[in-house]
Amino acid sequence: MRITLLPGDGIGPEIVEAAVEVLDAAAQKYNMNLEYDRQLIGGAAIDATGHPFPEATVKSAQAADAVLLGAVGGPKWDNVEPTLRPEKALLGIRKALGLYCNLRPIKVSRFVSHLSPLKDERVANADLLIVRELTGGIYFGTHNEAALDENGVETASDIEIYSRPEVERIAKFAFEAAKKRKGKVTSVDKANVLASSRMWRRITAELHDKDYAEVELNNLYVDNCAMQLVLNPGQFDVILTNNIFGDILSDEASVIAGSIGLLPSASLGDGTGMYEPIHGSAPDIAGMGIANPLGTILSAAMMLRYSLNADAAAAAIEEAVERVLAKGYRTPDLAGAGLTKVSTSEMGRLVAEELA
Ligand code: NAD
Repeated sequence: MRITLLPGDGIGPEIVEAAVEVLDAAAQKYNMNLEYDRQLIGGAAIDATGHPFPEATVKSAQAADAVLLGAVGGPKWDNVEPTLRPEKALLGIRKALGLYCNLRPIKVSRFVSHLSPLKDERVANADLLIVRELTGGIYFGTHNEAALDENGVETASDIEIYSRPEVERIAKFAFEAAKKRKGKVTSVDKANVLASSRMWRRITAELHDKDYAEVELNNLYVDNCAMQLVLNPGQFDVILTNNIFGDILSDEASVIAGSIGLLPSASLGDGTGMYEPIHGSAPDIAGMGIANPLGTILSAAMMLRYSLNADAAAAAIEEAVERVLAKGYRTPDLAGAGLTKVSTSEMGRLVAEELA
C-alpha cells in the first residue's frame, strides 16, 4: 500500500514521523506492506521549488492509496504572493484528489475530559462524527466582489449553490457512516430561510426513505445545532452538513475535546483519501519536540480504516492511544500534576510499543 507523506511546515515533520513509527508497528503486527513516498508541500515546497504544491507532489498523491499530511504555513511565508501562499496547497490537493467529503470525529477521552471547556458530565458521552460537504456551496459559488449598484451603494454577494448529485453523495456517506456507528444522522441546514437548504433537506429525506430507513434521521437548524453542541454533545452520532456550516460547526465541536492536538480528520473522494490532524503548523513550538502527535497518529488510524481497509489495525491504534493516556503519559499541552511529561517522539514510541 502506497502512502504519500506530506510533512509540510512547522511541527508537521515531527508529528508525521511519530505517526510513521506507529504505522510501522501496525504494519508489522497486521502483516501489511506500507510504502512511503515523502514529498514537499506548503512553505517547505515554496522554499525548494517556488510553488506550494509542486507537480511531483500532485503526481505522488494521485498515484497513492492515501495521503498523510502534517500541516502547512507559518510566518516565514506570510508575505508571499496570495496565489502562492502555503495554504493554497490545501485547496490544490483537495481539487487534485476530488475530495468532497470531510470527516471529523470528535470523541472525548475520559483521560482528558477535564481539559474540555465544558463540564465533565456534559462531555463524558460525546462521540460524534461531522460529515461536511467540502467542494460545493457558498465557498465555490460565484463571488461578486464589492461594486456600486444602480443606486450607487457599494454591494457584494456570494452564491450558495448545490446540485442534487452533490447532496446525494455526501448524504449517502453520512448514512453509511451511521450504519457503522450508533445509527443516527442529524442533517443540519437553514431550511427556514435558504432555498438550497430546503432542497438539501428534501433530497436527504428521499435518500433516507429509499435506502436507509433503518438509520434514524432528524433535521436541525444550524443555529440550534451550534447551541446543542455545547448543551449536550452526547446527543449526536453523525452530523451531516454543507460546506460553510460544517466549517464553523467542526471548529466549535473540536474545542470540546480539550486539546487541539488530539483530533484527526479525513478528506475523501472517489479515489485517494487524505488524512491530517485538525490543527495548523504551530510555528510557536516548531522544532522544540513538544508537539502532541496524537491527532496525527489518530489520522493515520483513520487512513487505515477508510483508505486501506484495515479496520482491526485502525482500532488497535485507537486503543493503544487510550492505554498510553491511561498510563499517565502526556505531551506538555495535556500535562498536569502526577502525569509523566513526554516529547513528541517519545509519545510516538510509546503508542508504537503499546500497539506491538
Ligand atoms: P495552530 O493550530 O497551528 O496553533 C494554534 C495553537 O495551538 C498554538 O498555540 C499551537 O502551539 C497549539 N498547537 C497546535 N497544534 C498543536 C499540537 N499538535 N500540540 C501542541 N500544541 C499545538 O493555528 P495557528 O497558530 O492559527 O496557525 C499557524 C499556521 O498554521 C498558520 O500559518 C496557519 O495558516 C496554518 N494552518 C494550517 C492548517 C493546515 O495545514 N491544515 C490549519 C490551520 C492553520
